[in-house]
Order: sequence, then C-alpha cells, then structure tokens
Amino acid sequence: MAILKVAQIGHPILRQKARPVTRDELHTHAFQSFIDSMIETMHDANGAGLAANQVHEAVQVCVMEVSDNPRYPYKPKIPLTILVNPVLTPLSETKFENYEGCLSVPDLRGVVRRHVELRVQAWDRHGNPIDAEVRGITAGTYQHECDHLAGALFIDRVEDPRTLCTWKEFARQHEARFREHVKEIVEHYGS
Ligand code: ZN
Repeated sequence: MAILKVAQIGHPILRQKARPVTRDELHTHAFQSFIDSMIETMHDANGAGLAANQVHEAVQVCVMEVSDNPRYPYKPKIPLTILVNPVLTPLSETKFENYEGCLSVPDLRGVVRRHVELRVQAWDRHGNPIDAEVRGITAGTYQHECDHLAGALFIDRVEDPRTLCTWKEFARQHEARFREHVKEIVEHYGS
C-alpha cells in the first residue's frame, strides 16, 4: 500500500476515458494492492471518493467512503464502497443541485445538477456483481466519481459559472444555505 499522487486539473490523465478492468487482472495481487492504495490515498486526502484516473491509472475503478469527513461535514455517511466497471442508469429525470468539490480541482467548488435516483451495476473488488439503487446526496457522489472514469470533471457540468467559489468563500457565503438544502434531500430520499 502507498499514498499515491493525485493528478491535478490540466493533467491529460483526467481527460482520458478509463478502460474496463478484466476479471483476471482484478484478481492479481498487484491490482488488489492498487485498490488498497486508492483507499489509503482517499483517506489521507479526506476525499469522499477517488477515481483511478486521479491517481494516474485510466482503469474503471473508483472508491468512496464518507464517515466523519472534515471536507464535507454535512454529507450523509457512505460505507466504504469499491466499484469496478460501474454503469449508472438514472431511475428518473429528477435532479438536485449539488455544491461539489474535487481533489483534482484545488480550492474550487461549484453547483452541478445531478440525478437524485440511480441504478448502479458494477463489480465489487472481488468481481462479485453489485446491482443496487442509490438516492439523494450519495447519488451525487456516485455520479461525480463515475464522471472521472469518463474523463469528465465536475466543472464541465457547472451550468452557472457564477456559482464557482473557493472553499473559504463557500464556508462564508453558501454553506449554511446548502446545509439546509442537503437536509431536505436527506429527509426526502434517506441519504
Ligand atoms: Zn473528483
């Protein structure tokens, strides 16, 4: 295991479409160790999630976990989740506004519209099938991470650039209102 270097916006790896992982490579010691390093890197950076492109490997793997996260104190908890070759399908056209940030986009946040209900199909780290529904703020995190695997960043989806702000100004100007918004979504969708 190791803490990996996180690619920053401008590095071409973040714009590369990640390739699917084969079952054979998933089962190798090297690949399992890479997944462990991704988890360690996410924890070290206090990220809510991390996609393989962000650590310079364009393969379809992302990891997510939210417990008591100092970067996102209002986010509902997500147990440690590893998705291999994920496919997301929206379950409705309903979207919500999410104030997002990214370890690869330093000191910037912006409002992105995300589907509020999704079906996720993927493998877990051992190749077992995952077929689940995710809702609410958590669905936003899933979409953010899967966008990385398609070579997209949250800023590509910011419809109103006037919502862009530093983390300091987010805390000063927007956080209180956004926390209320998050509370309503969590009350409605349970996550
Ligand atoms: Zn990100």
